[in-house]
Amino acid sequence: MSSCERGLAPGISMRIDAARRVDLRAACPDPAGQRVAACHARRLGQQKGDGAVSDRDGSDSSGAGHATDTARDPRWQRVVARDRAADGSFWYSVRTTGVYCRPSCPSRVARPENVALHQTLADARATGARPCLRCRPDDATPQAARTALIAGVCRMIEAAERPPSLAMLSREVGLSPAHFQRVFKAATGVSPKAYAEAHRTARVQAALRERGTVTEALYTAGFASSGRFYDRSGAMLGMTPGRFRAGACAESLHFAIGHCTLGAILVASSAKGVAAILLGEQPEALVRELQDQFPHAELIGADSDYETHVAHIVGFVDAPNIGLDLPLDIRGTAFQRRVWAALQTIPPGARWSYADVARAIGAPRAVRAVAGACAANVLAVAIPCHRVVRTDGALSGYRWGVERKCALLDREAGT
Ligand SMILES: [Zn+2]
Repeated sequence: MSSCERGLAPGISMRIDAARRVDLRAACPDPAGQRVAACHARRLGQQKGDGAVSDRDGSDSSGAGHATDTARDPRWQRVVARDRAADGSFWYSVRTTGVYCRPSCPSRVARPENVALHQTLADARATGARPCLRCRPDDATPQAARTALIAGVCRMIEAAERPPSLAMLSREVGLSPAHFQRVFKAATGVSPKAYAEAHRTARVQAALRERGTVTEALYTAGFASSGRFYDRSGAMLGMTPGRFRAGACAESLHFAIGHCTLGAILVASSAKGVAAILLGEQPEALVRELQDQFPHAELIGADSDYETHVAHIVGFVDAPNIGLDLPLDIRGTAFQRRVWAALQTIPPGARWSYADVARAIGAPRAVRAVAGACAANVLAVAIPCHRVVRTDGALSGYRWGVERKCALLDREAGT
């Protein structure tokens, strides 16, 4: 197995042959090489005290069982086929000749009952056998060199900020892209792209666990935009990033994007009620705003039932005087809730100053904090923070733009 395979990121299936773990020992001598075998077997038996080794031709009572085991081992077929691709993944020793070989050794294939398969070179050496002069099992194989090369590529992919292109990687190792792709896949079982993807998934998962918000996590994981991240995240995480972050107890927010006279509008609801009404130019920006506002929630879009519900809210935003008869899911500190409750008492068309609101909540000196609470409101129009202006009547700021604030106030004043 290459170091590359050992370093695979979660999610990549590993091509580890379970049979490699089977440690078989040859027991029965081969009549064709019996003189050498008898001598060697005696030496082995003495050195290792291994009862499975016999120096008598074909008379070892345990031989039949071992022969069957070796013949059944999938690695044995690779020895019979002199499979070069198997070189470096296991070795075998032949009790009758007293040598150990690599799987592709060109020598005559021994009888399976005389063969022991070894997972490591050290295991093969430990039998006391000598390295074969024909296949030179101690030397690094082209396969091993290639494995080291691929392992280097894996480290390169892991260290890269963005997944490197196939062209870039193949140039790095001096192979054609198509050839490199084949070699990489033969060594790791996946394409370089799939390897990079799996590695990035692991990075995203780690970042989501460690970072404060989905947005921070996606930049940590090397995504240029949250749109691209959300395109990929379903496939990578098997769930939305929000739910992954929050674990199994994540709440769901349904959301939909529509258009109203003020531009794009995003409405999101929890089981309790409407949790966010956001206004803006770009629908994508509204989705990001929602993500940042509710980093722990699973955001569910494209629900046709919910979209009908949103039409109702769009109607309300366009004509606030009709009132909104939907429950709200208001989240905030105790102070923010007091401010927002006061804002909901301001009738359409009226304008309060921040000082008016501060007085209304019984905290006349908390004008600055009131302004902060107004800016933290995520329920546009439903909590009418647009009706709060500066003491001198200037419109002051608005989370969703002073122009929208102005339009809302004009509209309310005109009715
Ligand atoms: Zn050999």
